[in-house]
Amino acid sequence: MAHKVTDACVGCGACEGACPVGAVKVGDAGVAVVDAGTCIDCGACEGVCPTGAIQPE
Ligand code: SF4
Ligand code: SF4
Repeated sequence: MAHKVTDACVGCGACEGACPVGAVKVGDAGVAVVDAGTCIDCGACEGVCPTGAIQPE
C-alpha cells in the first residue's frame, strides 16, 4: 500500500514539504510521483494537497 497521485495534480510541491520520509517529489513531468517503496502511508501529503490529488491506493 502507498499513496498515489491522480491527474488532479498541478505540481505545486506542497506534498514534498509535508512528507516525513521524502517519498513524494515533483518530477520532470510537472506532477508529483510517490515512491511506493519509501511511502509509509502516513497521509500527510493528502492533507496539504490543494487539489486533493493524492489518495490512498
Ligand atoms: S502518505 Fe506520507 S509517507 Fe506517503 S508520500 Fe504521503 S506524506 Fe509521504
Ligand atoms: S500537493 Fe497535490 S497538487 Fe501539489 S504537487 Fe503534491 S499532489 Fe500535486
